[in-house]
Amino acid sequence: MGKTTTARIIAKALNCIADGNKKEPSFDICNNCSPCTSISNGNFLDVIEVDAASRTGVDGIREIIDSVMYSPNNARYKVYIIDEVHMLSNAAFNALLKTLEEPPQNVKFIFATTEIKKIPATIISRCQKFDLQRVDLNTLSSHLFKICETEKIIYENDSIIQICKASEGSVRDALSLLDQAASLCKDNIKSETVLNMLGLNGYEKNIELFELCLLNKCSQALKIYDSIIQNGVQPSQIISNLLEICHLASKMNVIKEVPERDDLFEEKISKLATNNLTKLVNFWQILIKSIEEIRYAPNQEQAGSMAIIKLCYGSLLPDPSALLKQLSSPLKNDETKINVPQMSTTDDFDVKNQPQNSNNINQDKPHNFNYPDSFEAMLNLLLENKESLLHAQIINNVHLVSYSRGVIKVRLKSHSDENILTNLSNTLGKLTGSKWSISLSEEEGEKTIAEKKYDELEAQKNELKNSAEFSEVFKKFPDAEIISIEHKN
Ligand SMILES: [Zn+2]
Repeated sequence: MGKTTTARIIAKALNCIADGNKKEPSFDICNNCSPCTSISNGNFLDVIEVDAASRTGVDGIREIIDSVMYSPNNARYKVYIIDEVHMLSNAAFNALLKTLEEPPQNVKFIFATTEIKKIPATIISRCQKFDLQRVDLNTLSSHLFKICETEKIIYENDSIIQICKASEGSVRDALSLLDQAASLCKDNIKSETVLNMLGLNGYEKNIELFELCLLNKCSQALKIYDSIIQNGVQPSQIISNLLEICHLASKMNVIKEVPERDDLFEEKISKLATNNLTKLVNFWQILIKSIEEIRYAPNQEQAGSMAIIKLCYGSLLPDPSALLKQLSSPLKNDETKINVPQMSTTDDFDVKNQPQNSNNINQDKPHNFNYPDSFEAMLNLLLENKESLLHAQIINNVHLVSYSRGVIKVRLKSHSDENILTNLSNTLGKLTGSKWSISLSEEEGEKTIAEKKYDELEAQKNELKNSAEFSEVFKKFPDAEIISIEHKN
């Protein structure tokens, strides 16, 4: 995290002249001289930033190599910052190699990447390597708290923690999500809105489901499972949520650490962590197998509910160490029998009680379960898979021109990042297992989802304002304004 920023700092260290009497590069950066300020503003002629994603081929690199021969305009060093360098093709790397072997004087290359494994060893061996770490949750959340206070944004603590978690240690992603949340909530950030935004609403139900399985309450567990499915969550997503919960609970069990910050979910999960560790590890095994089984099952919903039944049964399995103890302790006459779990015949394993309808819902499209057949379904798929940043970018910047299987045409809002499209096509490829072509169109297209939502809200406000009850209110309070509309059921 912070690759490009670090690269710029190094570029400044190489070129800072302070008040004119600094002759050698050093990390004593003044941030004030003309090289420092122009590097900060991104307009220093001798620091060249290149996004490798946009010039993956030899030609793109050749341009750079040719320009390397010219000495710096007025700097100590000409610095090339190549971002996402792993995107370069092999041929491009080879072309670059010669320059790296005998770099001209006064030229430095800085490569930034998140995927060091994709860089050829011949290149790495000619570099100094710096590993940058993710920013930990505490540092990141304190940073966001500070920003909220400076910007006078009101927030619920948990909402900020969720944002930090979703951004997985990336400051830029966290800021972008915070910005998103602040504009959604009109500077009064509510946990519920953030959870919705991140596609995490209803996550609590998964924790409840996990708990019921631990307690071997199979029929209740299956009921909850069905209700989560009804909310449109994919079976594979439920199982991977359970995996996540299982991992956290096991970790808390071992580390014996109660979450410091008030994280709603972690607090609930910490209660599950008091369970026997063997049980939790068993659960993990069952869940990880189920993920694969679901992938190949003709009916994913059935496979998911089988996984739940297995979990409940798994919660009955004795702890192997307890079994060993029983075996090795001197046997008394009536203790020779080892307690093997019995399926309870009364309540919990009575699968017959389950609603039958869940069996047939998806029979007609067994292999394309994840294939979104509309733009909205595609957006939901992103949310379910926690691609909330991408989801937010699309909602705000993408005008849909046309949508069909695997082919999406869009227009981007001006000034938006074209990488959204590459990112989207890669992500969809991963999620659906097939190729997606996403292209830019000249056509105007639909309004962005965010614009549509805004229009809808404005229309609702107007309708409300003109309704019989409210027109009375506005007569009495002419300056009143409808800020938001909440539906209570
Ligand atoms: Zn300086």
